[in-house]
Amino acid sequence: MIFRQLFHAESCTYTYLLGCESSRQSLLIDPVVDNIAQYLQLISDLELNLILAIDTHVHADHITALGALRERTGCQTMMGEPSRAMCVSKTFSDGDIIAFGDHQLIALHTPGHTDDSYCFLLQSAHEQWLFSGDTLLIRGTGRTDFQNGSSTDQYNSIFEKILTLPDKTRVYPGHDYKGWTVSTIGEEKRHNLRLQVSSRHEYEELMGRLELASPKLMDVAVPANLACGKSEKT
Ligand code: FE
Repeated sequence: MIFRQLFHAESCTYTYLLGCESSRQSLLIDPVVDNIAQYLQLISDLELNLILAIDTHVHADHITALGALRERTGCQTMMGEPSRAMCVSKTFSDGDIIAFGDHQLIALHTPGHTDDSYCFLLQSAHEQWLFSGDTLLIRGTGRTDFQNGSSTDQYNSIFEKILTLPDKTRVYPGHDYKGWTVSTIGEEKRHNLRLQVSSRHEYEELMGRLELASPKLMDVAVPANLACGKSEKT
């Protein structure tokens, strides 16, 4: 499989390019509109055909490239139920398979950061990779204080779904603010302080005590992303 992890510095967002060696079909997870030239260059350099662009959730901190990529490449765009983004080509729901050539992602609905948050699980013969969006970060978890977020839902998504994956599952998050690029489920179980709670109630209290400023772009990004990255001016 072809794999590239790309970075948007302003929002510390990771975008993932996944491609099939034989069919050359590829997809992008969480592309940022500012970096569209880089994605198109890389896809061309690697002789890939972009068939799909997907977001793990409606983002509040950057503008998605879904709409622009669809216009430029003719790719399909997808987000998960119950996203209110009406602009996508299709939606997926829990357990759906998203195929690209010889490979496939399994969509896992993991509400909590937002109600439309998903993780994507990629399984090969030897290993599992989890693209964890903002549900599980490296040594952190996504905030739950806006966009229909819920610390109760997030606890259930993480403890009853994500952490049941094998410890050696590789974790590729939607953001990292310290430069960490990858972790594993086992490593996060041991070292992620947010996961060192003994009950759902303790997790809800922990998340409720966080006093976080709103993302700088939130008022622009959320409405734009509900329209696949088109702001009112464009
Ligand atoms: Fe987010």
